[in-house]
Amino acid sequence: MTLVMKLYLDFEPCKECKEMMAELSSPEMIFADEKTRIDLSAKFLRHLTYNHNEVVQAVMEELPKQKENQEPDFYQ
Ligand SMILES: [Zn+2]
Repeated sequence: MTLVMKLYLDFEPCKECKEMMAELSSPEMIFADEKTRIDLSAKFLRHLTYNHNEVVQAVMEELPKQKENQEPDFYQ
């Protein structure tokens, strides 16, 4: 969920975003099984893709950099 938390900091969430983020961080979801959490995360990411594409693009641009920083040996 680090990705979602990062997204949260970087853009103005709409009403639907806020609802899904509240759901994702609710106690029910924290104790839910993994499939339920993954399903909700996927739903949220789908919503971002369709409604906040500029945010998804910004994150995608940043991902390879992060990977490189975290795994410097991977490219050698
Ligand atoms: Zn939204």
